[in-house]
Amino acid sequence: MEKSKELFARACKTIPGGVNSPVRACGSVGTDPCFIARGQGSAIFDADGRQYIDYIGSWGPLILGHRHPAVIKAIEAALANGCTFGAPTELEIELAEAVVDIVPSVEMVRMVNSGTEATMSAIRLARGATGRDGIVKFDGCYHGHGDSLLVAAGSGVATLGIPGSPGVPDKVAESTASLEYNNIEAVKEYCKKKGDRTAAIIVEPVAGNMGVVAPKPEFIQGLREVCDQYGIVLILDEVMTGFRVALGGAQSLYGVTPDLTTMGKVIGGGLPVGAYGGKRSLMEKIAPSGPVYQAGTLSGNPMAMAAGIAALKEISAPGFYEALEKSSQTLADGLKKAAADAGVEAVVSRVGSMQTLFFSAGPVENFEDAKKCDLDRFSKFYQGMRDEGVFLPPSQFEAWFVSAAHTEADIQATLKAAEKVFKQL
Ligand code: PMP
Repeated sequence: MEKSKELFARACKTIPGGVNSPVRACGSVGTDPCFIARGQGSAIFDADGRQYIDYIGSWGPLILGHRHPAVIKAIEAALANGCTFGAPTELEIELAEAVVDIVPSVEMVRMVNSGTEATMSAIRLARGATGRDGIVKFDGCYHGHGDSLLVAAGSGVATLGIPGSPGVPDKVAESTASLEYNNIEAVKEYCKKKGDRTAAIIVEPVAGNMGVVAPKPEFIQGLREVCDQYGIVLILDEVMTGFRVALGGAQSLYGVTPDLTTMGKVIGGGLPVGAYGGKRSLMEKIAPSGPVYQAGTLSGNPMAMAAGIAALKEISAPGFYEALEKSSQTLADGLKKAAADAGVEAVVSRVGSMQTLFFSAGPVENFEDAKKCDLDRFSKFYQGMRDEGVFLPPSQFEAWFVSAAHTEADIQATLKAAEKVFKQL
């Protein structure tokens, strides 16, 4: 770790906390971050030349692994024509058409540059369309760092153990209610009082930012009914789950049709892309066809579009998700067995290629349950696995991502490492 340590010390002088996104820091697991030099397939290599099996996958985008040849080729071809124009290109239409083809609830889609932009814009659209201010979200769900959504949030906010953020005006935070995940009765009760003042309900249809928590079908389907009853815009935040838990996202798995969907991660093939889309009647309210303003200098960037198009093409191949399911299940089953054999209390919570090993007797159905996990044990496990060459998210409240580049040998090597580390706990 010599070189990584040196780089981290240098980074801390000019970059807050030495990182450009808090989840990359490893403070909560009592160590320093590895600086990464390069990736290839399922592997990443740190600045000291150490190789790891990577389950972060850039926090979700790399469903094809690092440097997938089709994605690299598409980026290089786009780059040859220039980086950015600030005028429309055919690539933007191609990616929009691909998304509309794959996700039936999306009739029109607007490209942005991050998941945060996608959710912020969807919230603005919902408010603009309904003329209401109120937002409902769920404890432990993370929807990016927009003011309205940084309330009882998951991901890095949960890792740092903070309730919200200074700098979010009280007035803005007050218009957001955060309810218990998987509790449809709480939503019904809330809406009896405030449903007619609520613009949107936004939810991670499979939560990934408190660790992976699957939705109860009656919860996720019940949200649709409540939204219909009160004229509320239902936003499924599929930034993490979109093109990940199934080609058509979590909405295709659970049979829920949202009014708006937010996307990110996989849709950009590893380049910065977010998107929001949905019903034509809503999307036409966006400028310039409508009055709700949203814009972006680099939105629809040609290289990012090309990477996204190439990625969506690869994941649309027959058998893609079946293979991913198989390796994800082998990993989950093996982890469960290894933990049990070592007498370590743990639950593996998984939907498709997203999974989290919770150090808890379980079950984990909401943020309160997730917070009961043994975080000291997680820290030891994280460090042990890193020493064994397995690169996991440095927080109990995050998802691990299996990619198509993970081989059977990678999964078995991971399980072997886990067996060893569990015994040391
Ligand atoms: N929504 C969800 C569900 C996410 O998981 C994330 C990022 N982890 C975001 C929104 C924000 O995306 P970004 O980090 O690209 O702004």
